Amino acid sequence: MLAFNIPFTTAACEHNDSLWGGLFVALCIFCALYVILSILFCRRLVKGLAIFFCFANTAAFYFMNAYGVVIDKIMLLNVLQTDVYEVADLLSLKMLGYLICLAVIPSYLILKTNIVFAPFRQELKIKLITSIIAALITSFIIGCAIYHNPKVLRQHKPLKNALIPVNYIGAIISVTKIKMQYIGIELKQISQDAKMLPQKENSKPNLIVVIIGESARDASFSLSGYNRPTNKPLEKYADEFIYFDNFYSCGTATAISMPCIFSPDDRRHFKPESEKYTENVLDIIDKAGYKLLWRENNTDCKDNCNRIEQERFCTVKECPDEILLTNFANKITSTDMPTLVVLHQRGSHGPLYALRYPKEFEIYKPICQTEFLQKCSEQELINVYDNTIYYTSHMLAETIKKLKSLQDKYNIAMLFTSDHGESLGKDGIYLHSAPYNTAPDEQKHIPTLLWFSPDYIRDNNIDIDCIRQMKSDYFSHDNIFHTLLGMSRVSSSYYKSELDMLAKCRR
Ligand SMILES: [Zn+2]
Repeated sequence: MLAFNIPFTTAACEHNDSLWGGLFVALCIFCALYVILSILFCRRLVKGLAIFFCFANTAAFYFMNAYGVVIDKIMLLNVLQTDVYEVADLLSLKMLGYLICLAVIPSYLILKTNIVFAPFRQELKIKLITSIIAALITSFIIGCAIYHNPKVLRQHKPLKNALIPVNYIGAIISVTKIKMQYIGIELKQISQDAKMLPQKENSKPNLIVVIIGESARDASFSLSGYNRPTNKPLEKYADEFIYFDNFYSCGTATAISMPCIFSPDDRRHFKPESEKYTENVLDIIDKAGYKLLWRENNTDCKDNCNRIEQERFCTVKECPDEILLTNFANKITSTDMPTLVVLHQRGSHGPLYALRYPKEFEIYKPICQTEFLQKCSEQELINVYDNTIYYTSHMLAETIKKLKSLQDKYNIAMLFTSDHGESLGKDGIYLHSAPYNTAPDEQKHIPTLLWFSPDYIRDNNIDIDCIRQMKSDYFSHDNIFHTLLGMSRVSSSYYKSELDMLAKCRR
C-alpha cells in the first residue's frame, strides 16, 4: 500500500504546498488504512486479500500513472461502457510489465512466504494495541488540522481519488449503487404531449442533422482563435455557419455528456444512468411525427437511441468518420417525412489519435504514434491531435456539402457539438474524465457550430445576424435539448424557451 501510494503522497504534498503538510496527510491516511487492513487481514484471508490487492492496485496504479487520470465513479462508468477496441488501445506491453513486476512477482512471494501468526489471543492483543495507536495518530492529526482550519476535510476531499485502494473501492460501491437503483424500473415517458407546431404553408419538410463529436476541444479550433488553421476545410462555408466559442460540456466523459445532451435535465440535475429508464428529446421529436435515425461510428449510443432506427457501417476495427455519410442522400430521401439524423463521430478519441484520420490528413508532423502519451513530446501529441481536428473539420465540411445538395427538398439545420474536451499533457494530465469541478478548462470548453439552409432561415423567420451576435455568449449542453425542440418546431411541456439558443432570434 505504501509503494502504490507514492503518487498520493506527492499529490498531498502539492495540495498542501509543503512537504510537511503532505507527509502529515499521508501519515494520517496510512494509519487509518492500517486499522482497516489489520481487521481484514486475518489468518484465513491474509494471503488471498494481499494477492487481490496486488492485482487491483496495479491496474489502478497503471491508469493513474500512464494517463494521469483520476479514479472515481465517472471514470469507472466510462470504463464499463467502453468497447473492447478501446480497451485494447489501453492494454499494452507496458501494462503487462506493470502486472509482472507489481502483481505477479509479489503475489508469488506472498504465496511462498510462511506467515507466522502468534496464538489467537496474543495476535488479537498485538492488533488491538497497534490499531489503537494508529487510530490515535489519525485522530490527533485530523483534530489538529480541524482546529487550525475547520474546512480542512472538505478542502482535501479531491485527494481521495488518488488514494489506492480507497479510490477504486469507492468507485465500485458508487457504481453498484447506481446500477442497483435502476433494476426493474419502467421506462419513464416524457413524450406523451409532443406535437408538431404548425409549419409555414407550402414549406419543405425539415431535415435536422445533429453531429456529436468526440473529445474535440475548443482550444484546438482555429475558429476560436487557435493559431493553427485546423478548421481550414470549413473556411469555404465561413459565411454560412455560426461557431460558438464560449460553449461548455455537461460532463468530462462520454458516459455523462452524451445522455445529458439529450436529457431534459440540466447539468446540475442530470443523474448518470437515468437515460436507461427515461425517454429523451429524440423520443419527443419521434413522437411528434419525425423520422429518426442514429448513425454510429463510436462505441455505441449509450442508451440514447434505444427506441429509434440505428445504422453502423464500420465492420472493421476503425473507420474514418466520413463513413457516417454513406448513402446519406438516398437514405434521407427514401421518405418525405421531416427527419432528424444523429451522426455519432469517433472524432478525436484517445489515446491512439493517429488511428482516427486517413493518412492524407496527417498535416502536422511528427506525430505521437503510441498510446503511452507521456513518451511523446508535447509537440508530437499536439500535432497528432490537431490532425484529428483537421479531419473533423473536413468531415463537417463534407456534411454541409451533402446537405446543400438536399436543400431543394428539405429545410435543413445542422448542429455540431462535442461530448467533452481533452487534455494533452498540460500539468501531466492526459485524455479526459477529470471530476467536473476541478477539471481543466480544456476538458469542458468545447466546439459547437450551427448551419442552416437559406430556406430554413426564411421559413422559420430566423434572424441570422441576431444568432451571430450571440457567438461568444455563454452556452452549454443544457441548451441542446431545448434548441433541438425549437429547431424541429416540436412542442412539449418539457421545452423551456429561455434555454433555446434560437428563441430570441426567431421573429
Ligand atoms: Zn467522449
